[in-house]
Amino acid sequence: MHFRKDIVRAAVAVGFFWVIAAGPLAAQSRGLKAIRAADMRIHMDFLAAPEFEGRPSPSTAVEIASAYIAEQAKIRGLRPLLPGGSYFQYVPVEVTTVSPAKSRLRILSASGEQILYFPQAFAPTSIRALAEGASSGRVVFIGAVRDADEKSLKDLDLGGKMAVAIGLTAPEGPRSAAGAPTPFSLTRYLREKGAAGMITIISPEREANLKEKGLRFDVAERLAFPSVDMSGRGSSLPAPSGLPSLPFVQLEVRHEAGATILGITPAEMEERIAAAVRGEHPAPGPVEGRILEASIYFDTRTTAMSNVVGVIEGSDLKLKNEYVTITGHQDHLSMREGAVYPGADDNVSASVAMLEIIEALMIERPKRSVIFVWDTAEERGLVGSYHFVQHCPVPVEKISANLNLDMLARNDPNMIYFVGSNCLSTEFDQILRAAMARSVRMRIDDTFQGTAHPDRFFFRSDQFPYIQYGIPGVWIFCGTTPDYHTPRDTRDKVDYAKMEKLTKFTYVACLDIGNRPEMMKLDVRPDVKTRGTHNMSVNWRAR
Ligand SMILES: [Zn+2]
Repeated sequence: MHFRKDIVRAAVAVGFFWVIAAGPLAAQSRGLKAIRAADMRIHMDFLAAPEFEGRPSPSTAVEIASAYIAEQAKIRGLRPLLPGGSYFQYVPVEVTTVSPAKSRLRILSASGEQILYFPQAFAPTSIRALAEGASSGRVVFIGAVRDADEKSLKDLDLGGKMAVAIGLTAPEGPRSAAGAPTPFSLTRYLREKGAAGMITIISPEREANLKEKGLRFDVAERLAFPSVDMSGRGSSLPAPSGLPSLPFVQLEVRHEAGATILGITPAEMEERIAAAVRGEHPAPGPVEGRILEASIYFDTRTTAMSNVVGVIEGSDLKLKNEYVTITGHQDHLSMREGAVYPGADDNVSASVAMLEIIEALMIERPKRSVIFVWDTAEERGLVGSYHFVQHCPVPVEKISANLNLDMLARNDPNMIYFVGSNCLSTEFDQILRAAMARSVRMRIDDTFQGTAHPDRFFFRSDQFPYIQYGIPGVWIFCGTTPDYHTPRDTRDKVDYAKMEKLTKFTYVACLDIGNRPEMMKLDVRPDVKTRGTHNMSVNWRAR
């Protein structure tokens, strides 16, 4: 009797459950089935191919990636959101490069003048903080960078001089902890002593690589973004204080150019470098009778990059005018001296995961509309994401929340970091955790949630511009590996099972947020109660 009663009770319970669950849950499970690792692999194989040269922004390669993503999104049913039925939101960029026609080094000596050209013989180390113009000084050899310190340089007159060093550096130790004494900085020391510049003769490995591949120097462009306000991100370093305001040029030169500057033969140059490699300390001292004049001038052009943007309209007549955004950047890094940085994890993983989420949402969509943005120029400072929130094609106050995917494919297969989920809305954070518990049950790690963590991940991906607008946002992040931002972030290391799980989780979380009666409640900070640009004045760095 007892036994039979149990069966009856169980049957009733299951039947009842089936009635309430058959609608949304059945559709959700069909949606979940549409998310397949095998589909992601096809697009990963294409977009992370070395032929894309790392999809740097701006570049033709990243524009081809954008066109491909837009096409794939379109055939899955994503609708355009921008005027004229376009999937592309253009982000203007001013690109400054070193001018090969106008930049050169001139060496003056008793025997006359010799000229060295950019980018064959020399290049500025960086043009980020460099001013245009010419500067000159007598040449002083300061030995190997590895050996240079206050003791080895103390007898040299460096004021107004061009300091030439062999670019052998000490092996990198562990990163110094906050509060540790600042390590000796050669450039800072030279600037303090009033040197006119520092010229580094590149290491034998770099010289061999350039020679073997027939390459020239690569110098990263300087970019400016007139359409975006990135204040509050706190990424730009303050100018060193208390230093003389002399122009200070930092250059790298090939071995032959180093010989020309020092007035020795190429064979003597190689000998001196080899001695330094063996651990000997080439003696520092002035190079009599030689003056080096560096002229660096720029070329500037204006071009545009594109966010890829599309929408899946919500199922509710009223709530479809509110939004959830799902973002992931499509760009990565420039080639450097022949090496491609494919960025398979960072961030083809999210770019292709988003295509699978479209497929699932086409089976069951939430009441709110879902906007997909494949951001451009994240690696240049979250530029595409800032541009989107600041030139939003829908009222930005109507965005309930942002789910940002950036790096989904590495590390512990059952762990994921949430970054920023709890900084504006308790409800948002709780929904995400509940969606995880209900779907793929990965362990959530909160190590990087706050603004105080020294790695500053809070500020470092495309959810942050949303947070600055008072829109709850989370970065779903697998964490870095030793391959992060190196040529080793390749397709073969991708964990497709992990990507599939995170894609399923994001789909479920998107449905939950999109179906809530109200937008995510802002209840964490007393100074952020409404969404909008007025929140840009909130100081996130101070907390
Ligand atoms: Zn990234």
